[in-house]
Parts: sequence; structure tokens; C-alpha cells
Amino acid sequence: GGYHRVVEENRKLYNMVQDLKGNIRVYCRIRPSFQAESKSVIDFIGEDGSLFILDPSKALKDGRKLFQFNRVFGPNASQDEVFKDTQPLIRSVMDGYNVCIFAYGQTGSGKTYTMSGPSGGTSKDMGINYLALNDLFRMSNGRKDIMTYNIYVQMVEIYNEQVRDLLAEDKTENKLEIRSCNDDGLSLPDATLRSVTSTTDVLTLMKLGEVNRAVSSTALNNRSSRSHSVLTVHVHGKDTSGNTIRSCLHLVDLAGSERVDKSEVTGERLKEAQFINKSLSCLGDVITALAQKNSHIPYRNSKLTLLLQDSLGGHAKTLMFAHVSPEADSFGETTSTLKFAQRVSTVELGAARMNK
Ligand code: ADP
Repeated sequence: GGYHRVVEENRKLYNMVQDLKGNIRVYCRIRPSFQAESKSVIDFIGEDGSLFILDPSKALKDGRKLFQFNRVFGPNASQDEVFKDTQPLIRSVMDGYNVCIFAYGQTGSGKTYTMSGPSGGTSKDMGINYLALNDLFRMSNGRKDIMTYNIYVQMVEIYNEQVRDLLAEDKTENKLEIRSCNDDGLSLPDATLRSVTSTTDVLTLMKLGEVNRAVSSTALNNRSSRSHSVLTVHVHGKDTSGNTIRSCLHLVDLAGSERVDKSEVTGERLKEAQFINKSLSCLGDVITALAQKNSHIPYRNSKLTLLLQDSLGGHAKTLMFAHVSPEADSFGETTSTLKFAQRVSTVELGAARMNK
């Protein structure tokens, strides 16, 4: 009867809302402490994605702040555990969804660890980039009777609002223009596009990209913490009746979010800092506008958001990892990272239960 119809309609509506909400996810990851004696600013991690931090300079309770995300990974979480909660998103790329995964946080908070793996490039504890491609290959193989997939990768960095090809043969002149999407859905039509069929191919390309990124950094200042690196995986699929899907997965290791003291840096460093600041706040504005379903989404305000325009919003899925350092002397940056992450999150604060 009527009642059942209303219930059914409500359920549809509820599922729709959940679906929309589910398009932007924020996970927080806390890296292990490097200072054994230092008191951690992390006071409590809840199963429900809640996180309490403690201001080390204040008395207990006064300095206790609550944040809430879709998920919080503590310092002991393994790469596999983190990947397990990322896998459904990766898998949806094979069904035609565009996906963006960002690593946000101050330099040294573990962004590269999450995306690429531990420094030094061992094949143990590989990060999301490698595990994701591995999974895509496995799925492509598993579906080969019904679907033929081709997988391609591009790797670029954005430094001072300029896009550089990290897989280019000619390293001298490779400033790239972002162009409106053509039929191939490429917004960087001139960037090197490499076909990959195995994880060995991927590892080779990732190494090349890292080398090219390092070559451009000046001797003393490791530039990689001040540029955004974007690994894009393009998936083309064709089924037995000729239907095609095209989608892409962007894996983004963002520039360090730390504020620099304007009185201490000048020249090139000040310029870099201003570019980073601007592009990270643009990214925040875009995700917030999407979360609030605003009619105007300010994609054009930075190269990063312009480049990712077709993979942010619409049916695309977004995941941001907010990385924090647990040490007391990082309290300021940790707080500002968590505030940024809370701003772009669709999880509402206050639902957290105090289990302690
Ligand atoms: P970022 O990319 O944010 O600058 P890194 O990923 O380089 O930071 O991390 C800084 C250091 O901490 C590296 O030596 C890295 O291997 C280590 N590290 C980061 N996160 C973890 C973690 N979850 N477990 C173990 N080591 C980590």
C-alpha cells in the first residue's frame, strides 16, 4: 500500500544521498613517531573515524579537539590495511568511474610513504600507486573473457603552476599545456603516455619518474616536497559486443602543506610557497564546493584543479588522505591539516562517541 511506497521512496532517497556523500571521502593517517620520548599529540582514535588531539602546551581537556573522518589509520596501520580500504575505489575505475586520490599533509608526514612506499625504493611495503596498478592488472586478467582492457600511464609534476612531463625522453623543454578534453579524455595531450601490461613496467616507469623529478631539484633544496606529483592511469575497456569504457585514476602526492614564515624566506622560496599555498587552498575550495553541491565549482583557479577537472565532481570519486605527524612540535601543522581535511569532509562532526 501507500505506506510501503513511501518507505520504498525514502529508501531510494536515502541511498541517493548516501551515494552522493560517498563521492568524497577523507581518511586520516598518523605516521609512527620518530621521537620515542616525545608525548604524542594524538589522544584517542575511535573505530568510527573520530580522532582527538591534545595541545601539548595546555592542561588536559582544554586542549582536546575532536575531528571526524571516514576512517583514521593509526601509526601501526600497515600498507595493506590502508590499501584494503582504498581498493573498492580503485576497482570502480574498471567499471568506468574516474577516481582521484590525494595525499595531503606537511613535509615528512608520510604522503610519499602512502602513495609510493618507503624511501629507498624496496619492493616491500609498496604504496597505493603500485598496489592499485597491480590490482587493475589482476582485474583485467580476471575479466578477459568478457572485456579487453588497455592500461596507460602518465606522470607529471606541477611546480610553480607549470606542468612538467616526468616521463619525457627530452628533459630540457617539456612544459605542458592543459587542454580541454578531446575524445580521448586526455587533458594533457602532449604528455608522454606509456602502455603498461605488468607491475614490472610500472616499477620501471615509477623509477624513471622519480629520477626525472630529482634531476630538476636544486642541490640543497629537495624540490619534490614543493611540487605536486600526479600519476594518471588511463583505463580503456572494450566488451565482446564492442561497447567501450574510458576512465582514469589520478594518484596525487601533493606538495607539503606547511606554512612558511614570510619573514624568513625571500625570492624563489617565497614564490614557491605562495604557489603551493594558492593551489592547495584552491583544491580545498573545489572539494568543499563539490561537497556542498554548489553550482559554481572554481576549477580554473589552479593548474592542479584544472588538470583534474573531469575527475572531480560528477560521477567521479575522490579520496583524500590527511597525513599527520604525532610529535608535539608538529602540533600547529597537525591542527591545520586536520582543519583542512575536516573542511573538505562530508562527515559531520559531533557524531563521535566518547568511548573513553
Ligand atoms: P612526505 O612525503 O609527507 O614528506 P614521507 O613519506 O617521505 O613524508 O615520510 C617521511 C619519513 O617517514 C620517511 O622516511 C618514511 O619512510 C617514514 N614514514 C612515513 N610514514 C610511515 C609509516 N606509516 N610507517 C613507517 N614509516 C613511515
